Amino acid sequence: MNSSSERIFGFETRQVHAGHIPDAETGARAVPIYQSSSFVFESAEQAARLFGLKDYGDIYTRISNPTTAVLEERLASLENATGAVVVASGMSAQFLTFLTLLEPGDEVVASSHLYGGSATQLTHTLKKLSVKVSFVAPNDVPAWKAAITPKTKLLYGETVGNPSGSVLDLEPIGKLAKAHGIPFVVDNTLATPWLCRPADFGANIILYSATKFLSGHGNAILGAVVDAGNFDFKRTPSIAAPDPAYHNLRFYDTFGHYGFLMKLRMVSLRDIGASASPMNSFLAIQGLETLSLRMERHIYNAQKIAEFLEKHSLVEWVSYPGLNSSPYHALAKKYLPRGAGGVLSFGLKGSREQARERGVKFIEALQIFSHLANIGDVRSLVIHPASTTHQQLTTEELDAAGVPPELIRISAGIENIEDLTWDLNRALHAASA
Ligand SMILES: *Cc1c(COP(=O)(O)O)cnc(C)c1O
Repeated sequence: MNSSSERIFGFETRQVHAGHIPDAETGARAVPIYQSSSFVFESAEQAARLFGLKDYGDIYTRISNPTTAVLEERLASLENATGAVVVASGMSAQFLTFLTLLEPGDEVVASSHLYGGSATQLTHTLKKLSVKVSFVAPNDVPAWKAAITPKTKLLYGETVGNPSGSVLDLEPIGKLAKAHGIPFVVDNTLATPWLCRPADFGANIILYSATKFLSGHGNAILGAVVDAGNFDFKRTPSIAAPDPAYHNLRFYDTFGHYGFLMKLRMVSLRDIGASASPMNSFLAIQGLETLSLRMERHIYNAQKIAEFLEKHSLVEWVSYPGLNSSPYHALAKKYLPRGAGGVLSFGLKGSREQARERGVKFIEALQIFSHLANIGDVRSLVIHPASTTHQQLTTEELDAAGVPPELIRISAGIENIEDLTWDLNRALHAASA
């Protein structure tokens, strides 16, 4: 694309072109995979400038890489953001964000409807760094407010909770963060920038497990930290104060709005080493090029499946924000007007005592759906938490965690919808036989 053009290109154009021009030397049209650990310096002087952060360029793939840089620019473009750093996984995107912004003794207020791995990271791993996390019901705004103390340094939530399917009321929580001068960090994995740009509603830092819908083919683990550029880190000590880990550089003074991402890359990512592999970045770039097309089909199929299940006599309940019956339907209309995403859950009808057994029978009878622990694949996926990820919990504990024993989670793929409902119908009958 001609960068001197005045036109602001649409999402569908940017998902294919942003951040890349054909390779000047070879003319390669696709983004090349720069599978190189390190990059030759032009001169000793340039090397010194790179290490001193006086020039920007690639030194070593643990810190940055030209293939990964295309993905970073493309994501930032799709999010209308200042920039992005792509890292090894969604978990490391979160951890590096916390490590960059928090100091021992700081506190976080977070939504209780989080991805299981995130809940564990916030509760147990951050505790080791002497960071305390208070969890609140996602849309109980007075509870968010009450939980904020002078030590609270960020607010945290998921646009669409995995697996609960709750939709976060971003706007009032964003206002609360702003009033307290702290960043609002939002995991937008289930929504993707095609369905929702959380920064439009007050979020400041957007996180992704790019493993899911962004890559979309279940073939790479990857994460991203996106800075929307709408939070001023001037009064954030970790970004504004002299950093002894980088010869007392003041990241805010030196890089302004890039201060947070520069510190995340040059200190946190450098020291922790949770780097993206160039091959995985390439795979995510391929996936991202069809994001809007895939999301349209994921949404269509998820909505049809939810409606099919809601009418089915062997189904007790269905949770999908796209259904009128969902307590999150109004919020979904506001924040996700194109559709409520590709993930839904439902409960098998029948006695609670036999719910685990029935769940296993249901899963085993499916032919098209793959039984695995992932979401956001072109293939339809299914999991029964009570017999897998949450099998050690009692029925009471399952209820408290919001994953009752009869719950089945579905990630709708892009296959033929009649085939998917045919498969589900067969398995429902097999489970109740
Ligand atoms: C999968 C997931 C993560 C973790 O991402 P990985 O890429 O598996 O490390 C974080 N948040 C949400 C909402 C997820 O679904």
